[in-house]
Amino acid sequence: MKKLNFHESDDPLAEKKYSPVKGIVHKYHDRVIFCPTYACPSRCDFCFRKNLVDGKNGQLNRYEMAAAIDYIKKGKNIREVILSGGDPFFLPPKILLDILKNLSAISHIKILRIHTRIPVTLPRRVTKKLAAMLRRAAPIWIVIHINHPKEITPQFKQAVAILRQASIPLLSQSVLLRGVNDNFETLKKLFYGFVELDIKPYYLHQCDPARGTKNYWVPIKKGKKIMRQLRKEVSGICLPTYVVDSPHRGKTPLY
Ligand code: SF4
Repeated sequence: MKKLNFHESDDPLAEKKYSPVKGIVHKYHDRVIFCPTYACPSRCDFCFRKNLVDGKNGQLNRYEMAAAIDYIKKGKNIREVILSGGDPFFLPPKILLDILKNLSAISHIKILRIHTRIPVTLPRRVTKKLAAMLRRAAPIWIVIHINHPKEITPQFKQAVAILRQASIPLLSQSVLLRGVNDNFETLKKLFYGFVELDIKPYYLHQCDPARGTKNYWVPIKKGKKIMRQLRKEVSGICLPTYVVDSPHRGKTPLY
């Protein structure tokens, strides 16, 4: 395990504090994050949940799953459930289907969102069968985590095409990473690449200060400078919101 540098944390977004039951993070009054699994094939070095994802935490067991769904059922003010993890698409399809059915049956839940990196790292998991299953749970939005234009491979394009053919709306989220994508040309190519595939660029995240991530941090001043240049030279529909997550205030737009 990497050493903990100054300003780094194993829980940089204070999710433990906002977790009423295992698998749920409830920070905003009308939305919850639901992590039915902490397993993830991507293992990003900059993952802010790497402490959970790297460990022995796999899928929630059936009692934990039931307790998480029960919490959502009882929270009448919750409108939106964000399935995250781990990667929800890494769950066995039958389990994912059960979760979606259970959530869709709750009358106060109006929107489902799935955060995934699998279309990038394990695109063969995105099948027509999966897309049809997701379609039945509509309204559902998929947010794809992708950071570099080199990740827009033919296999990724095929996975995206399957989801779009099922009329599933797609958004992107990317992490600003030093030495990886912290320049105008790379991000321009990335955001144009999304729009060409019918993915709306949604968030560009400041890297969260998780353990061992210091080398990826980009000064906010530099991030804003890149966004200013993008605003000047790139079509408005290609621009995501540049955000920083803070432990207690949630997402704060920076540009
Ligand atoms: S895809 Fe997401 S959950 Fe998986 S390792 Fe990367 S940041 Fe963490």
